[in-house]
Amino acid sequence: MNYCTRCGAKVVLRIPEGDSHLRHVCPQCGEIHYLNPKLVIGCVAEWDGRVLLCRRAIEPRYGLWTLPAGFMENGESTAQAAMRETVEEACARVGIERLFALVSIPHISQVHLFYRARLLDADFGVGEESLETTLFEEREIPWERLAFRSVAFCLEAYFRDRRAGAFGFHESTLPPP
Ligand code: ZN
Repeated sequence: MNYCTRCGAKVVLRIPEGDSHLRHVCPQCGEIHYLNPKLVIGCVAEWDGRVLLCRRAIEPRYGLWTLPAGFMENGESTAQAAMRETVEEACARVGIERLFALVSIPHISQVHLFYRARLLDADFGVGEESLETTLFEEREIPWERLAFRSVAFCLEAYFRDRRAGAFGFHESTLPPP
């Protein structure tokens, strides 16, 4: 960040009094601009034993497969974010079930959350951010062509739990690659 979004002056990096982190501070109006981690929210949506994956039409990881997921917007709940992203990426309506996985990724300041979900019908499509969307059996999952480590972590845990007959909650912190 270079300029204050409140008054337009050039910001400086310093540790405000009583704080412990470097912040972008506006020397003109005094505003402290906090930058905090972003939430990425998605779901493992099942239909007839198969799981919905989307092939990315955008960078990063263009052409690789991912769960429907994206950045949470202001003013929505985490479950609403998962539903919205699934509509946007796969034109699919889902019923959200339990929270299933939480992945902290400190080196990029992101937290990824994945819910379990059920497709409400098989009438899905290809959203603007996807090249294609497909329902995969477990044995068809393109493990070598997954876009993100958090997605691989979530899917591995998902199928392990499903085989065991009980879904738990799974948490992980990813180190830098
Ligand atoms: Zn300012």
